[in-house]
Amino acid sequence: MIIDTHSHLNFKAYDADRQEVIKRTQQAGVICIDVGTKYETSKNAVELAERNENIYSAIGMHPIHIKTDLLKLKMDEGEGGFEPLGEEFDYDRYKQLALSSKKVVAIGEIGLDYYYKPKGTAKKELFKQKQKEIFTLQLKMAEDLNLPVIVHTRMAFDDTYNILKSQITNHKLQKKGVIHCFVGTWQEAQKYLELGFYLGINGVLYKQNIFETIINCPMNKIVVETDCPYLTPPEEGKDNRNEPIFVKHIIQKIADIKGLSFDEVLEATTQNAKKLFGI
Ligand SMILES: [Zn+2]
Repeated sequence: MIIDTHSHLNFKAYDADRQEVIKRTQQAGVICIDVGTKYETSKNAVELAERNENIYSAIGMHPIHIKTDLLKLKMDEGEGGFEPLGEEFDYDRYKQLALSSKKVVAIGEIGLDYYYKPKGTAKKELFKQKQKEIFTLQLKMAEDLNLPVIVHTRMAFDDTYNILKSQITNHKLQKKGVIHCFVGTWQEAQKYLELGFYLGINGVLYKQNIFETIINCPMNKIVVETDCPYLTPPEEGKDNRNEPIFVKHIIQKIADIKGLSFDEVLEATTQNAKKLFGI
């Protein structure tokens, strides 16, 4: 059994052939966690998980979907076409959604994304502030529900680390979680590991040099993911759409980098995902 801990089969990119992709996933013995990015995609993730045995779901609001007048963001086409971005985070509504299905195994993806930013220092600070508030609220929700978190963090190491650390030192966030799509340095990785987090490794390892982290990171702290439809491994044609079965390439690549066999990496990452998400 392989577990793709981060997929987006709920996205528009699969509207034409979603059931066929899911069938291939089932036939290959791949279990996936389908991850929401806002209320609508979270609800779709829950529905997909309810209908398909090999799919679990995570619900949450990605920082890019925060409603703001500070800058204009465009929705990624693979995610949901050109519908307008911007949602006020509604704690109770998300909490109800999490409670509506036993297959909700995490809160995510949530976090901080400082890649897109408004012009001007004051506006930048306001935007960061809003992201931090909503991230913190969702960490509190994870604690309320006793679920782990799937963290998205981009160009925001210090704030992400400090917020996670303060949640943990306040005796909250028992279940910890995963730093999805890890791209930082080994020093940064170690700080997350110290907090009890796992690293989520995906096709970004073909683009960014995270070899030092992969070599040094203990095998019991790594989970694998595709982040499909994005980040297709080059073995499948990097311009093609990604899908959960391609997670095997990530396992092979980690095995090559660490000098382990495919089965050793498969076994360890599956155990880690089972333990973290209670699957
Ligand atoms: Zn994602």
